[in-house]
Amino acid sequence: MQPPTDKPIEQLPLTNLRGVGPALLEKLNALGINTVLDLLFHLPLRYQDRTRLTPIGGLRHGADVVIEGVIAGSAVMFGKRRSLLVKVQDGTGLTNLRFFHFSSAQKSALTTGARIRCFGEARWGKGGLELNHPEYQILQQSEPLPLSAHLTPVYPATEGLQQTRLRKLLEQVLEKLQTTGALPDYLPAALTRQERFIPLLAALRLLHQPPPDISLQDLEHGQHPAQVRLVFEELLANYLSLRRLRDEAQSQAAPALKNIGALQKRLLASLPFALTAAQLRVNREIARDLAKPLPMLRLVQGDVGSGKTLVAVLAALQAVENGFQAALMAPTEILAEQHFLNLDQWLAPLGVELGFLSGKIKGKKRQQVLQDLASGHIQVMVGTHALFQEEVQFHKLALVVVDEQHRFGVHQRLSLREKGKQDGSWPHQLIMTATPIPRTLTMSAYADLDCSIIDELPPGRTPVNTVLISAQRRGEVVERISTACNQGRQAYWVCTLIEESETLQCQAAEATFADLQQALPEVRIGLIHGRMKPKDKADLMAAFKAGALQLLVATTVIEVGVDVPNASVMVIENPERLGLSQLHQLRGRVGRGSQESHCLLLYQNPLSEAGKLRLGIMRESNDGFFIAEKDLEIRGPGEILGTRQTGLMMFRIADLTRDSYLQPKVKLWAEKIRAQQPELVEPLIKRWLANAEQYGNV
Ligand code: ADP
Ligand code: MG
Repeated sequence: MQPPTDKPIEQLPLTNLRGVGPALLEKLNALGINTVLDLLFHLPLRYQDRTRLTPIGGLRHGADVVIEGVIAGSAVMFGKRRSLLVKVQDGTGLTNLRFFHFSSAQKSALTTGARIRCFGEARWGKGGLELNHPEYQILQQSEPLPLSAHLTPVYPATEGLQQTRLRKLLEQVLEKLQTTGALPDYLPAALTRQERFIPLLAALRLLHQPPPDISLQDLEHGQHPAQVRLVFEELLANYLSLRRLRDEAQSQAAPALKNIGALQKRLLASLPFALTAAQLRVNREIARDLAKPLPMLRLVQGDVGSGKTLVAVLAALQAVENGFQAALMAPTEILAEQHFLNLDQWLAPLGVELGFLSGKIKGKKRQQVLQDLASGHIQVMVGTHALFQEEVQFHKLALVVVDEQHRFGVHQRLSLREKGKQDGSWPHQLIMTATPIPRTLTMSAYADLDCSIIDELPPGRTPVNTVLISAQRRGEVVERISTACNQGRQAYWVCTLIEESETLQCQAAEATFADLQQALPEVRIGLIHGRMKPKDKADLMAAFKAGALQLLVATTVIEVGVDVPNASVMVIENPERLGLSQLHQLRGRVGRGSQESHCLLLYQNPLSEAGKLRLGIMRESNDGFFIAEKDLEIRGPGEILGTRQTGLMMFRIADLTRDSYLQPKVKLWAEKIRAQQPELVEPLIKRWLANAEQYGNV
């Protein structure tokens, strides 16, 4: 039995381990290893097989092997580089060890007649298969050296931290755990039984010290039962933590907004179209949430052009009608301005006061806006994240709408919610994303939200016809643009760059703009990029929308939200540099009117195989959900969730691309645990997310 005084491993500092002093501690910390538990979850990248000897006669190129034999001679060679060559034979054959760096002590130890055991990679060299710089040991005749009993792990390491050091530490931890039992297994017995999971410690031991006959292929693909066992627990903990965040939010109060509907009716009556069935359904789902005295937390997913803005505005009107304010936040300046212009058209006739704020609004104007907002004069507020600065005070904020949410990072929404809090009452929150998120990913990343899907486009849209054209045929593309513009159509020309640098993007767009002006003197061309003044951007967009400009050269700033139905051609330069979801977003700027639209992907030759595959998907499909699934497969979840930059949503072991298939089962068990064994929730979250707890409250 275990001595009860033993601290659970979660609380054990690394300095409790033999040999861990300040220097080693620093290196471990650099790897993100701060506790003994972190160390246990630091799993090998791959393994070496040192469990058996390979006869020298059976060496193959590229294989890691252990060989043992007698030194048959050694000599310093003076070729291009000086090296020490040691001949080893074992009765089945002869091979060379080659050392480019060696000391004189080494040289004299590696003498003829000595018995040696080496580990290294066999490679073709001048005189047949050789081992370059193998690890080696000179054997004393008297005592035979045992081989390893298990595969040798190779860990993610850092400079100055040797593999042997990490291996020794892990051996020590595993040994300690074996005797103390300080690593309790928190999975319910029923789960372990039904899924045939091995115990936690056994799984960890298996991965740190696998038996020689383990399936390396399973390990490589994350399919080994020991891996699946750990991944499952991690996903479970993640899901439980999101659900707990939701519980916390739901324990707060929010203004119950009666669904009066008078303003909504007037707005809808003024529009030249009717809501789609999907918009209507989602509108009802939202209206019902808003009427409750708990804060709504709802994610609306809908493909580009599915009409999310209108749904958001209808929700805002429900707040206004109840005497509250609503805020609509967009991720970019230009999108915020677009929203402002659109909303102004819709809301001004209803007598609803609209305000706008971004970082670029300064001085007197800013003071006025802030004052009107604080006094409650402004009823619906549009802006960028400037809306959530300290100095911005709402009068009675009841609803926060976050548009194109994925750009804010997954967990930022929580901080927004926090900031919108007033007098113990929280605003309702509506999150809209135009990047459809694969269902399993939704479960991992948005388990704290309710989800609505607008799965229908307004009628009369024609799918965008997408073609791939090599940049060598740029001339033809310019021709096509000229023809389209002459026929009264409008077009976008989008410039992209690998560099994230906005300045460089703008320069590229400027150069293209100059080129096109020269090539197409009869076409009225505009240029828009992120470096322009907000007023200039707004004027330019207005001119394009009004048809005064025929061709708009742009950086990817037009990716989201821009809405000009008469624009029916889009050229995207270097599309191979963008993610599929981003391309889909861009392409969604055309195909908004009734005429047939075209998207020309002007790629750079040569296109890699992966590039061909990716652009091929764009050509074949107009379905944002399908494209998102593919993007997930190809580029991983960070691209879709927008967390790559922020580093949030980090898992220790799970890989959302590889392991998402487990999500439905994880959800099932998580709900069962919440209902039947809630006491397990806390320890599970603590074990897996202790370091990341702050990720709930960024
Ligand atoms: P997204 O979902 O990409 O944000 P928007 O809200 O920008 O889409 O809507 C795209 C365009 O479709 C806008 O011009 C909007 O006015 C229009 N629209 C919205 N709903 C409908 C509808 N039910 N029928 C026709 N057009 C609609
Ligand atoms: Mg939109």
